[in-house]
Amino acid sequence: MNIKILKNINPLHALLVVASFLIALTIIVLIFKTLDFSDLVTKTENKTFDSRQAMLVKNHIKKPNKDIVIVAIDDASYEYLTNKYGEWPLPRSVYADLIHFLEKQEPASISFDLMFVSSLKSHGDADNKLAKAMSAYDNILTGMNFDDMSYEVREPVNLPARLQLTVNNRSKVDFEDLTFTNCRPILSQIINSTTKIGILNIVRSSDGIVREFPAAVKYQNDYYPNLAFLTALTYQSKLDKKSYNEISIDKNANIIVSNKKIPVNRDGGLILNWYGASNGQTYEHIPLYKLVMLMNGEKIKEQYDFKNKIIFVGTTATSMADVKSVPITGAGETYPGVEIYATFMNNFIDNNFIKRATPLTNALVTLLLISLVGTVVLRTNSTPIAVSTAIVTVLGYTIFTYFAMMFGNLWLDIIIPVLSVIAIFVIAYIVKYVIKSRDFEHQYKLATTDGLTELYNHRYFQDQMRRQIASCQRYKNEFSMIIVDIDHFKSFNDTYGHQAGDAVLRQVAQTLKNNSRSTDIVCRYGGEEMSIILTNTDKEEALIKAHNVCNAVAERIFKLSATQTVHVTISVGVSTFPEDGETPQQIIEIADQGLYYAKEHGRNQVGLAIYNENPPENN
Ligand code: GH3
Ligand code: MG
Ligand code: MG
Repeated sequence: MNIKILKNINPLHALLVVASFLIALTIIVLIFKTLDFSDLVTKTENKTFDSRQAMLVKNHIKKPNKDIVIVAIDDASYEYLTNKYGEWPLPRSVYADLIHFLEKQEPASISFDLMFVSSLKSHGDADNKLAKAMSAYDNILTGMNFDDMSYEVREPVNLPARLQLTVNNRSKVDFEDLTFTNCRPILSQIINSTTKIGILNIVRSSDGIVREFPAAVKYQNDYYPNLAFLTALTYQSKLDKKSYNEISIDKNANIIVSNKKIPVNRDGGLILNWYGASNGQTYEHIPLYKLVMLMNGEKIKEQYDFKNKIIFVGTTATSMADVKSVPITGAGETYPGVEIYATFMNNFIDNNFIKRATPLTNALVTLLLISLVGTVVLRTNSTPIAVSTAIVTVLGYTIFTYFAMMFGNLWLDIIIPVLSVIAIFVIAYIVKYVIKSRDFEHQYKLATTDGLTELYNHRYFQDQMRRQIASCQRYKNEFSMIIVDIDHFKSFNDTYGHQAGDAVLRQVAQTLKNNSRSTDIVCRYGGEEMSIILTNTDKEEALIKAHNVCNAVAERIFKLSATQTVHVTISVGVSTFPEDGETPQQIIEIADQGLYYAKEHGRNQVGLAIYNENPPENN
């Protein structure tokens, strides 16, 4: 940027540009550095995920798998079974009977989202019966929980190696948030049997909503599969006739199981794609008490078919509070934990887990959007076009992210790209405004200045004369003007040439400027005549000023080349408003008469019009 352009920038505009860049910078720094702000962005981004999911579910885009069913310990079951057995929790023999009853219909698997811990109420016989029933089949799974309970309360136990999952982790996925120090063991009869045990830990986002689900968690440096993931691995093992107690996570953070690639988050969570029904019943719910009635030979009107069904047994009773908030639940509605396990299973079967776009993808998308909006805003002269481009871009992109999730299971960020578009819109608008006004100033300068001397031009001079008269009339004030004509300039040109004449013109102009106040308006009147409007100046002061410039020119050494110097003189005429006239023409005429007088009386002096009573002053 050269000095000329810098000079053209109004300080206010320069300040605006600097301020807007500082504001933009502050916003970016705030977003990325301040924890609260980045947390707010994360939370809002999560909400956009929830609305995309809710919309997909509402439009029935994803069909839940009919082979997944839930045996629900619902409010009715709680009431009916407590009455029947006289206690809660139920004697474990009820579950043993349930296993034998269900297995007759050859389900794919039965997963208990329940914890059969030993308790004071445990009946050894009933517990043994359950453990025996479980290990009698190879498709029964049950759950256990890890936590961070202090060692004084409970000593962490050593779990048998058969419960572990071997994970070949070649990615940057760390399981830091999914690492636990203690374990709440279930019945030792089950732990020490052949029954598959999955982990029941659930993770919530900072706003309490369950969006991710761990495939595995860590305990004492070993990996343990989540109950739903273990159910999935059992299911896949049957299909492939191959065991999956070993999995790998590839470099790009995908769990590789069979022909499936499941994207994992940095912390080891898998983002669930939800299948529907915000009332908390995505899958078929069969109340436990009805199965107990069937087991006891009682007649009920429903018929159930469990052949090849993937069964999850869990609590749905609101009174037992195993309920969570998930992205698709409406205000105040909750979703039973067991449904989340079923949803995980459904995602696995459909290979449908949500993949979060990488930071690079999000950055590229953001860049694309801001270049589009930035370019249009800078190029168009129409505010409606600029505004509608920004709106259409934001809306279009938001709709696009919906379809990306629908067809590609891809979670593209919305908040940062949209904030960036808004920021770039504002910045581009400010920049454009500054460029425009700079352009205007440049045009204005061109229209009001004389190219050779860089003094104001004749048009500007006439303009200012009218303004001065109007202003002085209004405020009962006076102003003066000086007219300057170079002496014998024609012969100067003839002697030294036109180029030298131009150089002298520029230097005379410079001399006039140097001898003026900032409120004086120095103009090129025409040819080699110049004028100075002296605001707020009476005749007396104007005469002093006229003498000053006359002397200054006479004393100046004019350089024509490195070696050649000359002396130049000027003649000067002076007039004052209102005493010399009421119109620009009258005032200029009087100054001209003064100039004429000076020329007549030997030049290089200040002259006053002859009608004036004061005798003309000599230099
Ligand atoms: P006087 O002392 O009576 O003013 O004599 P003069 O020769 O200066 O007479 P006058 O003011 O009538 O002459 C104007 C001359 O100024 C004519 C022209 O050659 C010269 N002139 C006008 N404009 C320019 C210009 O832009 N450049 C140059 N080099 N000369 C100019
Ligand atoms: Mg002249
Ligand atoms: Mg002249």
